[in-house]
Amino acid sequence: MPRYSITTFGCQMNVHDSERMHDVLRCAGYTEAGSAEEADVLVLNTCSVREKAEQKLRSEVGRLARWKRERADRVLVVAGCVAQQEGERLLKQMRAIDVVVGPDNIPELPGLLGDLAIGGLPIARTVFDLDAPRFLVASPPSPSSSSSPRAAPTAFVTVMKGCDERCSFCIVPHTRGPERYRPSDEIVAEIAALVAAGTREVTLLGQTVNSYRDPLGALPRAPGASADDPDESEFAALLRRVAADVPGLARLRYTSPHPRHLTPSLVLAHAELPVLPRHVHMPVQSGSDRVLRRMIRRYTRAEYVARTRALVEAVPGLTLSTDIIVGFPGETEDDFAATLSLVREVGFKGLFGFKYSRRPHTPALKLPDDVPEGVKGERLARLFEASEALLGAHLSDLVGTTQEVLVEGRDKERGHGGAGGALWSGRTGRHEIAHIDGAGELDLLGEVVEVSITRANKHSLQAELTEAARAAARPRQRGGLEPRPARRSLPVVAAEGG
Ligand code: SAM
Repeated sequence: MPRYSITTFGCQMNVHDSERMHDVLRCAGYTEAGSAEEADVLVLNTCSVREKAEQKLRSEVGRLARWKRERADRVLVVAGCVAQQEGERLLKQMRAIDVVVGPDNIPELPGLLGDLAIGGLPIARTVFDLDAPRFLVASPPSPSSSSSPRAAPTAFVTVMKGCDERCSFCIVPHTRGPERYRPSDEIVAEIAALVAAGTREVTLLGQTVNSYRDPLGALPRAPGASADDPDESEFAALLRRVAADVPGLARLRYTSPHPRHLTPSLVLAHAELPVLPRHVHMPVQSGSDRVLRRMIRRYTRAEYVARTRALVEAVPGLTLSTDIIVGFPGETEDDFAATLSLVREVGFKGLFGFKYSRRPHTPALKLPDDVPEGVKGERLARLFEASEALLGAHLSDLVGTTQEVLVEGRDKERGHGGAGGALWSGRTGRHEIAHIDGAGELDLLGEVVEVSITRANKHSLQAELTEAARAAARPRQRGGLEPRPARRSLPVVAAEGG
């Protein structure tokens, strides 16, 4: 049986696409290799949002050329956004590549590999499924079979793909195509199946996830939704439908929303649906109106502040995280100071920061990339300094409080080092990472447990089970199922240099 391996670069969307590639390849009779070196088919699932990510692919292919030469039947596949962006060009530029497959063509991968195996030539398939959009569905383990592994506690579910925004810095509309939405019936059915198999938290995925509209018109208008507001969508209605139809779901998150669609109906959904945790990631990109205009973000700083303030007022204690680009063409020191002041004004508890990177096919290519690299780096460092101070103060405030943590897996940092052989980690409803000490003898995977916060680390919390949670927990069976590694969504703070 041929063995495959997948290496993933980039965002949650890519992580999700990789999971679907695992499913598609396994269904076609492939087995997962223990390591990339042992694989017969190696897939690189790529990201092209920043140039650095694309360079990573090119150096990885260079490195793998030797791996390929060792055996004639080895196959190298490039998938994801660089595949979509470059298509056939990749085959011409890098002879080690055999198959280039775009995000919408994942189901065709086994067929393309089959053609290659009978002597076919290297091939690129990068066609958007505009007429009949396909949304690949995870195959959760059957809940009826006691020998099958438990589903991961957290899962991604796609609700839409593509992007109709035209942010001047962003390559996504080019690599993912126009917006296409998935029927709400299908979304609910996938979430219900995941929950039946043991999943506790679902993150709805989409490039502008809150622009969602049901293509079959199957959703009633959500309370608070306005027929006249051009920013209104059916996202709040979708959240309400999931909450009502899948009562066993513990937490419902979403990423990435656009501030334009943070309308009163969505704020009301947050106020009324306990399944929505008290944390939202809301990319802002800049705190300067001049830069926001040139980025074509279609909101002002004041509008962003007003909309997020309405959300925080409706859901006391809700925390916000964001994405920010520094060094966009023409960004002055005053523009950057406005960004820093916005970070403090909103009080973000997490932040992904990126140095602006010129991308092909984007409107901003017409603008000179005139902020020197050193200035970009220095602004990014100041941005992280401001964000870490906010996060540090927030985490310290939580020491001594009781929180509910969804246990996602064994602690990656300390592995088996905890008392009793394991140390568990998970997330609070507000997305803080919590490491649970002294619970190694218990089976907490997928449980929502009550913990006392004992210490604040730089980016996370240290915690202990409360007496009540300890009494209610199951002992871990010796030789029983090993917890699967946690599938992470957004970290609370990302120190990425872009
Ligand atoms: N569509 C989503 C959105 O708008 O929030 C996610 C897009 S992207 C995967 C995630 C982040 O990458 C963006 O929010 C932005 O901060 C950053 N990004 C996108 N294009 C960039 C560029 N050309 N240079 C630097 N950062 C960029």
